[in-house]
Amino acid sequence: MKINVLKFGGTSVGSIEKIQSIAKKLVNRKKQGENLVVVVSAMGKSTDELLNMAKLITPNPDKRELDMLLSTGEQVTIALLSMAINALGCKSISMTGSQVSIKTDSTHSKARINSIDKDNMLNYLSEDRIIVVAGFQGVTENGDITTLGRGGSDTTAVSLAAILNASCEIYTDVDGVYSIDPRKYPKAKKLESLDYDEMLEMASLGAGIIDVRAIEMAHKYKVPIFIGLNTMDVPGTIVKEYDDNMEKKAVTGMSINENILMVSVSDIPFDASNVARIFSKIASKNIIVDMISQTAPHNNQINISFTVEKDDLYDLEAVLIDLKDEMPSCDFSFNDELIKLSVVGVGMISQSGVASKLFDVFSENNIHFYQVTTSEISISYTVHSDDLDRAINVIAKVFKL
Ligand code: ASP
Ligand code: MG
Repeated sequence: MKINVLKFGGTSVGSIEKIQSIAKKLVNRKKQGENLVVVVSAMGKSTDELLNMAKLITPNPDKRELDMLLSTGEQVTIALLSMAINALGCKSISMTGSQVSIKTDSTHSKARINSIDKDNMLNYLSEDRIIVVAGFQGVTENGDITTLGRGGSDTTAVSLAAILNASCEIYTDVDGVYSIDPRKYPKAKKLESLDYDEMLEMASLGAGIIDVRAIEMAHKYKVPIFIGLNTMDVPGTIVKEYDDNMEKKAVTGMSINENILMVSVSDIPFDASNVARIFSKIASKNIIVDMISQTAPHNNQINISFTVEKDDLYDLEAVLIDLKDEMPSCDFSFNDELIKLSVVGVGMISQSGVASKLFDVFSENNIHFYQVTTSEISISYTVHSDDLDRAINVIAKVFKL
């Protein structure tokens, strides 16, 4: 059975009218004989609203309870979309993560999918129904509801596509992937196609169009992803395996990540075991560390700076307080006014000079950067938010993005 998995994000299902208009398009496709599994997010900003309610009670809510709360957002959407499809005379059924049997581990708020049972879905498809699945949620072996991390509906969609051997179409409020987020740089160009690695860098570096885990999953299971506008009538961007027809530029795009927090730990006694201790404590809390820099030893002490996501602040504070007990000489501070800018391109593997061009641009324009890291296909800098617009403009100009 040829199946298409479609996913609609929060803004695409942000009102009853929008839900009804999506229902109409789905019914049209169904009438043309397509077998559809539709994954949806919570309406508009409702996940944020739920989160804000929890934060009125405590700044650091219990994660099992938070998952219980946040998973309700998607349930509202699946019920309404399914009703809207039914109202148009087409058979539909809504399914929670648990009803599909999306089994995850028990890492609440960042759960990983272990298995998915396709039989329930195949049965409903053979009854000619459009299946509407709640994104972002799963269930543990014990029956506890979990969520997959913010933006996790994309991962739900790609995982379902992988298990159903289906194509995956992700509809959103932008009409494809641009060289730079058009909200930040209106002159950015739309990309026809990208390879998984580029998209992975763009997403993990904060392009914000599609969730990183979803791309990793798509790469692993070779699921091509179409990313397009929720009106479903304009060409979008295809993310797939690299092929020779893709344009060979050194730099394909630039991504901007505003959700970073720079943490500095100073006066660490100079000994590799201390550095290891810091990062293993952080890792034990499942906090992902991104850019790391270390100063040369001075008076037998070093300073380390690294970046994490802003949401990890509370968990991280606990780690650092613990650490200060063990290493009383250390001090720590946070800087939440930095932005990470990354230029990305598979072309960098074979073309040199990108880093030197960037250093020139920063120095000519008097833009100060705090950290630099590179990967095979990207170079990233942290800059102060006051310099962001200027940095975007000058870099875009140099690399014709
Ligand atoms: N509703 C969830 C969120 O806002 C999941 C998603 O939209 O993908 O993060
Ligand atoms: Mg999203």
